[in-house]
Amino acid sequence: MEKIRYERPIIKKMSTGLMNKFGTRTEQTPVTHIDNVPVKTLLSEYGSPLFVLSEKQIRHNIQNASRIFKTRYPKVQFAWSYKTNYMDAVCRIFHQEGSWAEVVSGFEYDKALSNGVPGNKIIFNGPDKSDEQLITASRNNSLIHIDHFDELYTLIKLSEDLNLKPRVAIRVNMDTGIYPKWDRFGFNYENGQAWNAITRIINSTNLDLVGLHCHIGTFMLSPSAYAVAATKLCELTKMVKEKFNKVLQYIDLGGGFPSTNTLKGSYLPGSDTVPSIDQFADAITDVILGFGFRQEELPLLILESGRVLIDDAGFLLGTVVTTKRLSDGRRATILDFGVNTLFTAFWYDHQVSTTKSYGQHTEEMIMYGPLCMNIDVVRESITMPLIEKGDQVVVHKVGAYNMTQWMQFITLRPNIVLIDRENKTHIIRKAETVESMQSAEIIPAYLK
Ligand SMILES: *Cc1c(COP(=O)(O)O)cnc(C)c1O
Repeated sequence: MEKIRYERPIIKKMSTGLMNKFGTRTEQTPVTHIDNVPVKTLLSEYGSPLFVLSEKQIRHNIQNASRIFKTRYPKVQFAWSYKTNYMDAVCRIFHQEGSWAEVVSGFEYDKALSNGVPGNKIIFNGPDKSDEQLITASRNNSLIHIDHFDELYTLIKLSEDLNLKPRVAIRVNMDTGIYPKWDRFGFNYENGQAWNAITRIINSTNLDLVGLHCHIGTFMLSPSAYAVAATKLCELTKMVKEKFNKVLQYIDLGGGFPSTNTLKGSYLPGSDTVPSIDQFADAITDVILGFGFRQEELPLLILESGRVLIDDAGFLLGTVVTTKRLSDGRRATILDFGVNTLFTAFWYDHQVSTTKSYGQHTEEMIMYGPLCMNIDVVRESITMPLIEKGDQVVVHKVGAYNMTQWMQFITLRPNIVLIDRENKTHIIRKAETVESMQSAEIIPAYLK
């Protein structure tokens, strides 16, 4: 055995504030560029605050996720979850990469059509589909995922009255060992509701049951919950084959894989604790492959992943408005964006980076937005260098749910810029203006 070389022990001086209890630096490395474009340039050209999306990262994410599933299972289809980020430019990138569209409202359905998605590649989820939308979706041959019995009865009636042949699946909810259960959407597995709905569809003259769907939750940290879900959908698929001699074409396991953001109250950062897509893919494909389907009856596996594919491709750039001392002595930093723009600050401890180097000194501080509301907190506690008025910051992993859930409250929503694969910038949504906001308002004549 080779003798290990002796290394003299050394003592290294550490400054307070630099370390967390695990000994690593926190949120210290300045972020000066995004995809080679200087943050400073982005902010001076497009204003502050500003959302920035990296096309490279989006394409990397979907290609990587597809590869992970396709190397484990032969029939995989991703469908982009519109509500996660329905900027048309973003949706079109996903569609170019082969994703179908997964929509949960008539508005999103129309957006998918206008993005050129063929009707038969649109999955229509959600509890509130109007008669007109059900008719349109049936005529377009879309996949209608039925959420409740009233919707089922409506669709049966419409299809008989208008001689439609809708392709349908049901959304199934179930106990996957994760609580609270998401049982408000779809038909329950354990109490027999799901089987009841399946029977009614198969006994209807016009509805064509083509698949089964579930979406067991969001930011799910447990791959085994997906194994349970896959097992239950496979069981139903097998029962449909046995009882009705009908082969279902697909199993749709929804979305819910977590991004690497850090949930509020977590002890360790999300990037260290969140399971990888590989782990979810193993859990799901092991079940389906091991279930004993005949080769030609192997169902298509549909995935409706949202946040895991876009979160880390989004950045929010902003500027420090001012700093102050709170009455308890704590430092407060006020930024030019708040929870109106960064809605996910309600759930996540977003990583915030500086954009230039500071000295060694850091301080624990609270980060507020500019809204005149007490709940407008971007970070309840963060250790940062002493950033000051006019300094710029970058918030990480904001690509999911912010550009759809943001609120227009006392300010205007900012520009969204996409950096393309050649590192060129494009505005993909213009900042709102007083005029654009007022264009929807009508002043009654007597108030003019
Ligand atoms: C929101 C949603 C998704 C996407 O969820 P993520 O947690 O962002 O992956 C997928 N399917 C359905 C039905 C949804 O409602």
